[in-house]
Amino acid sequence: MTVHHPTLDDARRLDAEDPLAPLRDRFVPTLPGRIYLDGHSLGRPPAAAQDTARALITTEWAHDLVNSWFSRWMRLQHDIGDLLGRHFLGAAPGQVVVTDSTGVNLYKLARAAVPARPERRLIVCDRGIFPTDRYILEGVAAERGLELRLVAFDEITGPTPDAVARVVDERTALVCLSHVDYRSGAIADMAAINAVARSAGALTLWDLCHSAGAVPVELDACGADLAVGCTYKYLSGGPGAPAFAYVRRPLQDRLTQPIWGWFGHRDQFAMPQGYDPAPGIRRFLVGTPPVLSLALVEDGCRLLAEPGIAALRAKSQALTGLLIELYDAWLAPLGVRLAGPREAALRGGHVAFAHPAAERFGKALEAEEVIVDVRPPDRLRFGLAPATTSFTEVWTAADRFRGIAAQMS
Ligand SMILES: *Cc1c(COP(=O)(O)O)cnc(C)c1O
Repeated sequence: MTVHHPTLDDARRLDAEDPLAPLRDRFVPTLPGRIYLDGHSLGRPPAAAQDTARALITTEWAHDLVNSWFSRWMRLQHDIGDLLGRHFLGAAPGQVVVTDSTGVNLYKLARAAVPARPERRLIVCDRGIFPTDRYILEGVAAERGLELRLVAFDEITGPTPDAVARVVDERTALVCLSHVDYRSGAIADMAAINAVARSAGALTLWDLCHSAGAVPVELDACGADLAVGCTYKYLSGGPGAPAFAYVRRPLQDRLTQPIWGWFGHRDQFAMPQGYDPAPGIRRFLVGTPPVLSLALVEDGCRLLAEPGIAALRAKSQALTGLLIELYDAWLAPLGVRLAGPREAALRGGHVAFAHPAAERFGKALEAEEVIVDVRPPDRLRFGLAPATTSFTEVWTAADRFRGIAAQMS
């Protein structure tokens, strides 16, 4: 019996009907024939970024020189933060800054949060969270003499509110979780988990690296306290682009972050003796930002804001849905396992597969111009960035994967 599955013509028709298809031409093209399905690791460059970088060097830097700090550059961390907040994070202005890396921001916010619950000694985190988050929280716990409880939440469902409720109590100062699991793509119920944490009196800190630009996030509305995330994945900010940090407004003046730099000083240019943190979100800044890289974050953000996150999410679900249909027809019978949620509402922007030969599959796919993410020992992740991925590419990649898996397994 053959399972009915979408044909190449079906995929072409989906592309023809795709309202987001023209967006692909607004990115710098890949090499001809290359199918790039790793946009959840590094987003492709917006074409506008080339002009932004050139203008920044030839005009703002070369001509206006140091005056550019005051005419524009000093505002960028705030302005781009507000832009991200409005279009992708559900955050009202004055709560997001673009600065430092995700890891450094996680450190600053976690380290600022725990003294706000001085009688509590526990940080709760997912054992399977992205390693840098775990290491940084280990460091914060060691520095503050706290206990870090690493909980083995289910990888396929992500941390559920019930599972979080079982491990968070009156001793918990901070709960740190990923919204979208970087392994499985599972989406956590952020609103319900925030409610669980709040009723226990704990603060929440979310890692949004795999959410920003891929799935809708409503930080203000769902009661999140703190969040961090990177801009170089779905948001196409560029390699090593600075990350963002969100601090809920009522918390801002009650938290002091641990890196006391002049950009966070109340009176930065008076340069007085003694650190005195600025009011508001500015106190979470540290030092001079990488302006070239920072400025490019705006291009990715503005480009993706044109269709908006709802349209991006709808296409993302259609892309991952197509891949899962083809998986059912072709790959499951060859012993490949779906290593993430099946339901559209529960899966993020990438699809994870497991097979003992994953590393060999990844190399063979690359030899056939399909770039996916390989995670030893046995995972392959297909990151289907909705702004840059076509249905035909997904179909072709699944077809090549089928050929390789049939040959090798
Ligand atoms: C990519 C990623 C990071 C990266 O952190 P950097 O500080 O930019 O190296 C952190 N957390 C998650 C969940 C990620 O996916």
